[in-house]
Amino acid sequence: TVERSPEFEGFARIFGVETEYGVSVTGAGRPVDAGQVAMTMFRPIVSRSRSTNTYLANGSRLYLDVGSHPEYATAEARGPLDALAQDMAGELVMRRLAAQAQEQLRGAGYGEHLRVHVFKNNADSAGHSFGCHENYLVRRYVSLEQVEHELLPFLITRQLYTGAGRVTDEGFEITQRADYLDEAVSSATTRSRPMVNTRDEPHADPEEFRRLHVIIGDSNRSQWATWMKLAVTHLVLCVIEESARLGRPSGFESFALADPGEANRAVSRDLTCRASRLRLADPSAAQAVLAADPNFDDAGGLDPSAGLTALEIQRAYLHIAERFFADHRDVMAAAMPSSDDDAPERPEHPEDPGRDGWNSLDRVFGEWRRTLDALEAGDRDAVADRVDWAAKLRLFEALHARRSGAIAQSKLAQLDMDYHDIASGTVYESLLRRGMMIRLLDDADARRALGEPPADTRAVLRGRFVAAALDAGAQFSCDWTRLTLTSPEHREAVILDPFGAAPTDDYERLMAAL
Ligand code: ATP
Ligand code: MG
Ligand code: MG
Repeated sequence: TVERSPEFEGFARIFGVETEYGVSVTGAGRPVDAGQVAMTMFRPIVSRSRSTNTYLANGSRLYLDVGSHPEYATAEARGPLDALAQDMAGELVMRRLAAQAQEQLRGAGYGEHLRVHVFKNNADSAGHSFGCHENYLVRRYVSLEQVEHELLPFLITRQLYTGAGRVTDEGFEITQRADYLDEAVSSATTRSRPMVNTRDEPHADPEEFRRLHVIIGDSNRSQWATWMKLAVTHLVLCVIEESARLGRPSGFESFALADPGEANRAVSRDLTCRASRLRLADPSAAQAVLAADPNFDDAGGLDPSAGLTALEIQRAYLHIAERFFADHRDVMAAAMPSSDDDAPERPEHPEDPGRDGWNSLDRVFGEWRRTLDALEAGDRDAVADRVDWAAKLRLFEALHARRSGAIAQSKLAQLDMDYHDIASGTVYESLLRRGMMIRLLDDADARRALGEPPADTRAVLRGRFVAAALDAGAQFSCDWTRLTLTSPEHREAVILDPFGAAPTDDYERLMAAL
């Protein structure tokens, strides 16, 4: 008999977020390009690790590929709130590297007024696109066909609340990358641009798990949006996994889209969220699901043969997930991280449910429902403090109201970029300060996540190893499943189980060599 890890049962999940950043420079007195700025940012990393690819003491990965897009991949987290904290630590890392590079370049005679900009977005002005990937551990029995048919309609339509918004030559759209993603599901990320990457690198026991690698998704400034996309996708994955395990349809498959690429562009361009109808692959299947569910009665006689709107599809996912949750509440709740007793106290905001609140699945459902209700009612302002694209539009409208006459497209594009600039931008920070964007975590949480890996995954082992190796001035390397000491002596520990936070014998021996 095969021995399964205990986490194989139930709904435990591993979450990881990879964020590629865009770099640029303004105010330089003599020519300097983004590639040089990125290399200057990574100088402290290279001098420490002799490489532009390294792991940090919080268990995360920091690297610079060719070009000028530094990437931060968060350590493995067991819940959306922990993953958010790790992602915020990544912003902090980039901000510090940028400040240091700016100092250096100014000192090196590139000009007093040189400014380094680091964009947490997904497209630059030259039309290059770069990504924000979500990683979810899913059980191996979920097939790639299921991902394509059951998950993709959800991923495309969730952009109604996870889209970061973008000023384009034609105006404004909800997402950053709709024009760049064509194929639905594929194993390549360079030639074609799939929405879900199927390259099989589970970073875990391949008999038990897959790593679902979601490419379709914007980088978010809104903390809520990062938390929300992970949390809601988790709920949908729970339903898909359980139906795969039982060999039963989840109901989601009825909403498979006739043309995912076309649907994706339509969602992105429909600022009303209610005008575009997305064609379904099999309208009669959707009709059957809707007819069988009394909850859909009040949806006002939906007619899937004419296509469904993104909101209607989200509603269907919400209904199915809610029904599922009613039957699996305890098991699903048990899979979420419990409250962290070591966490420092922080001032509570009136609307802030606290850490336990943001870790509760009831909260996720509540936010999901409330968001769809607001968009359905055409009340974009009701979500402008949490949905990035709505926050940007509110900003533009306020500007229009203050100034008479049209505002140049270039001004809006500049504001748009500033919103994403984590190094030199002021727009987003000012919204936060004025309480106009909702906060789940604060700066102290981000600093803490930079110093400490999540305590309940293997990231804690990696983090401790990296910290000890740096302290000892030892040579080392890591990947997600392996820790290697190369000098003073060669030792290695395999950490294949992403849920495994307890040291193994190999690990103890490795640490003893430091
Ligand atoms: P690329 O940059 O080429 O897309 P990649 O996606 O293969 O690379 P990384 O950039 O190294 O990989 O990021 C991997 C992400 O997956 C990290 O955020 C990490 O925490 C997460 N992760 C690691 N192991 C697992 C796992 N078993 N299941 C889900 N996520 C995982
Ligand atoms: Mg990556
Ligand atoms: Mg990736």
